[in-house]
Amino acid sequence: MPLAENAASRPLPPDLIFHGGIVHCLDPKLTSASALAVRDGLIMALGEDREILSLAGPLTRRIDLSGQCVLPGINDSHLHGVWLGARWPDLMLESPESNWHGRLLDGPEDMRRAILACFRLLASLGITSYTEPGIGPGEDEGETGCFGSDVLAAYAALAGTPAQTARVTLLSLHGLLDGASTLSVFEAGLSLPKPTADPRWLSIPGVKIFADGIPPLRTAWVEEPYPDGSVGTLFTGEGDLSERAATYERMIRLGHAAGEQVAVHATGDRTVETLLSTVEALGGAGRLRHYAIHGDLVTPEQLSRMARAGVGLTVQPVIAAMTGAWMAGALRPEQIARAFPIDRIFGTTGLRATLSSDAPVATPDWRRIVATAAGQLEGRGLPVGRAELSALLRMMTAIPAEQDGAEDWKGTLEVGKVADLCVLSQDPLKAGWQRLPEIAVERTMVDGRFVYDRTAATGEAP
Ligand SMILES: [Zn+2]
Repeated sequence: MPLAENAASRPLPPDLIFHGGIVHCLDPKLTSASALAVRDGLIMALGEDREILSLAGPLTRRIDLSGQCVLPGINDSHLHGVWLGARWPDLMLESPESNWHGRLLDGPEDMRRAILACFRLLASLGITSYTEPGIGPGEDEGETGCFGSDVLAAYAALAGTPAQTARVTLLSLHGLLDGASTLSVFEAGLSLPKPTADPRWLSIPGVKIFADGIPPLRTAWVEEPYPDGSVGTLFTGEGDLSERAATYERMIRLGHAAGEQVAVHATGDRTVETLLSTVEALGGAGRLRHYAIHGDLVTPEQLSRMARAGVGLTVQPVIAAMTGAWMAGALRPEQIARAFPIDRIFGTTGLRATLSSDAPVATPDWRRIVATAAGQLEGRGLPVGRAELSALLRMMTAIPAEQDGAEDWKGTLEVGKVADLCVLSQDPLKAGWQRLPEIAVERTMVDGRFVYDRTAATGEAP
């Protein structure tokens, strides 16, 4: 029967086709297309309009992009989702005068509401994945209620349900956020059971170590002393700095041995150095893909070694821009000049570097993050054209997916990967980085499902 033969050999038609636009896949080759087909939540085909439209069946939905642009869904590699959902539209660096202490959430219903508020906000921004950096029992009595074990339970309860509109990667926290931890609690925490959830919706690959503070407060642990002669501190363990450093190193080794991705809040160069030299001694990060968060005072020499050892770096350009003056009051001029070396971070071959918000400390708006990073690169003499802007966009899509160990199935628009994407009113590569913050997010799709449509939205967009 030729008909049956035909039906068997032809692929089923797509559920949906976008056509008539510009699709930037942000794969390593920086492929572009004008049309994209989606079936069963996955990208089925990419190409030119005629070729992709020829796949359509009678039930295929066609969306004419009329020149709009499709990018992979944005992945914010460091965003405190529950805290953001509870605080929005308050952002710490924009309204430091508002009260940043005190209880925000009480009980599972509050937590669920905060998570859903976060999901809605992120959908309106085109963000389809994020890393929730630090949730665990150490914060069960925490003052805001945004980081304790109940939050993990609330995420687990939502995982994979239709209410979840962004994929979550979560780091466990066995100590305080922005504070102290002990070796015994950390070690015990590594064997706590994790909730079972579909890892494509809720994945808990690793553990956060809160190692040092921040440079403006002179609590970042530094090689070259601050103007007052101090060298900062570590929050790991107790005793003098050498005891704390030994505890910190032990935590890295324990996390590594337990098969956990180790993500360290490390702003000072010595804090980065301990992470790096420990991982080097372990033979590299390998598939665990450990990384430093912030890295304000990381050195160019460390960046090259990080690339070789497979240690990544997650940075926040907007925080760097907004706290520069504050930092200037606390550090030596030579330290300031070396701080936040975005040009070296950008230029280190093989370094797994991602851009992120740290919202609600700073804005979750990735358009501002990318534009701020571009401005910082130009400020250091590196013109940002099409290739550089594409690379910056990859630092909020493809590279965070690598940090998540998920590059096989998300982070770029390629056949067989999940249909997580955002539609923008204009092509940022054509418009240029200066205009990126004004480009509108028209639609957001996660797993082949629309989770945001600007024309249908009711004032949710920031
Ligand atoms: Zn943070």
